[in-house]
Amino acid sequence: MTKKSTPPLKKKSPQSEDLSSPPSVKKRSSKTTATQAGFVAILGAPNAGKSTLLNHIIGQKISIVSPKAQTTRMRVLGVMTEDQIQIGFIDTPGIFAPKRRLDHAMVHAAWHSLQDADSILLIVDASAYKDNKTGDIIGELRRRHKRVVLVLNKIDAVAPTRLLPLAAALNDTGIFDDTFMVSALTGDGVEDLKNYLKAKMPPSPWFFDQDQLSDLPSQLLTAEITREQLYRQLQQELPYAATVVPDSWEVKKDGSIIIRQSIVVSRLNYRPIVLGKAGARIKTIGQKARFEMEQLLGQKVHLFLDVKVDEKWQERPEFYRLFGLDFVAK
Ligand code: GDP
Ligand code: MG
Repeated sequence: MTKKSTPPLKKKSPQSEDLSSPPSVKKRSSKTTATQAGFVAILGAPNAGKSTLLNHIIGQKISIVSPKAQTTRMRVLGVMTEDQIQIGFIDTPGIFAPKRRLDHAMVHAAWHSLQDADSILLIVDASAYKDNKTGDIIGELRRRHKRVVLVLNKIDAVAPTRLLPLAAALNDTGIFDDTFMVSALTGDGVEDLKNYLKAKMPPSPWFFDQDQLSDLPSQLLTAEITREQLYRQLQQELPYAATVVPDSWEVKKDGSIIIRQSIVVSRLNYRPIVLGKAGARIKTIGQKARFEMEQLLGQKVHLFLDVKVDEKWQERPEFYRLFGLDFVAK
């Protein structure tokens, strides 16, 4: 694991190269053109579509998505800058009843993100609404006296007649200021939600550069991309017992990037599963991950993956630190 961190991800054609663009906003005084800025926390049960929504809003895949629950492990911040308004969207690990240490850390990270938020979105999967999971989150939000925006997601997969009763039932809880119905997948309704949030952001200098997309170093984002492929290429439980750590990052003269990462599994007998027959599976994981990385970075990538066994990785503080999680979250 290297300590050296890579710079956060920027938009591919940075506006800063355009000399006619405004100077660094951080230096602006409050007397110049009024800017607005704030943070929006995205909460919801696992699989509600939080990461998909964030990616749609940012216009880049910065938070990994999979049909398996609990894909998002750390707090991912996506930055949207439009007009004079900047919003930092905080994607959170889904909130669920934690059992293991890693689970505790993930749930803690989700609740912690509320402290910085100017608006809170509760994403609900309208196509598979389950009272218990979302109900627990609503109870906790109420206990914390939070005002929340309800976002019914996956409307592309629900009969419209089911949406209004669901919205009404959820609004009976009294914690919601407004309700939006969207499809994070098709983008339906997302623009309305964005405009609503833009209007809600307080007058403030911006917190990030105009062309910044995330506060995560590219080294971590690319490790997450590999983990996403691990989830997609492997079945069942194994992905939860695995993690991906960045080993090194080297930019060559031609601009291409050599990325070395380790897939860490918790049992010796997981290693051959990740490798696959004659290394076929890790080859697929590597190819697909590399393609995604090239899309994200706008550069040719040479990706080298190593598979390591560490039975205790979930008990090692350095993994938590690396991903910004709290080792002793309760
Ligand atoms: P998260 O756990 O809340 O971050 O959920 P993800 O963003 O990882 O999404 C979970 C699954 O739901 C993935 O398979 C997504 O493709 C799917 N999904 C997310 N949004 C939508 C949507 O609007 N419509 C449909 N049909 N599927 C969606
Ligand atoms: Mg997620």
